[in-house]
Amino acid sequence: MQAAGEVMNDYKKIRLRNHELRLRPAHTLARHMEIRSRSESRSSSVAHIVRDWRTDLIEAHPDLFHPLPDDPGVAQASPECGEGWQDLLERACARIRAAVQADGGTFKFTQIKEKYGTARLYWEGTLSPEADARVEEIIDLAEARSACTCEVCGAEGRLHRAGGWLMTRCAAHAQGHPVPEKPGWENVTISHVVARGTKTVIVKRRRYVRETDSFVEIDPLIIGEGG
Ligand SMILES: [Zn+2]
Repeated sequence: MQAAGEVMNDYKKIRLRNHELRLRPAHTLARHMEIRSRSESRSSSVAHIVRDWRTDLIEAHPDLFHPLPDDPGVAQASPECGEGWQDLLERACARIRAAVQADGGTFKFTQIKEKYGTARLYWEGTLSPEADARVEEIIDLAEARSACTCEVCGAEGRLHRAGGWLMTRCAAHAQGHPVPEKPGWENVTISHVVARGTKTVIVKRRRYVRETDSFVEIDPLIIGEGG
């Protein structure tokens, strides 16, 4: 049983994460992106962006990435993560595109990266409250999927710790040791916290099911009494 304080701390982390997308400062363009000089070029100063799944993803979704006008494969939010998450990002992009087009609002990815072993997708834009909620749900699904998908190869994986690093890996690509999961909390995230009166807090939880790429509600944690 998780103590109430711990649950609230987890919840605060989730809210903080959602706030980050509003507060995140502009960051430098795709710092991970590999740049090499083309020695064969007439001008040795011309840099060439190496084509890979990231540039393909950006070029396939200019409406979401808003790439540079003179290079359709380069965008602020070029994914800073491994190829194993390509599939879940493509899925998220297709879903977000549908939601944004149906809504008629604006959307731009501002950053896609790995943090503490899972994917983080940040965006800015103006959508109706319904479309905003839909996009957040799509992103929650993508981030939950990254938590059980090897960042290297895309196979089913779990969180590992190697030295000071957290990473989601399959057995073949594992480094360090699997991080023990709290029994009953496998693939579980907190979706909502409701305060009842002053004494009771209801923590709504859901579990990500990798096979169906969906969430299922599980028993809420009820902390306190009365109210
Ligand atoms: Zn793997």
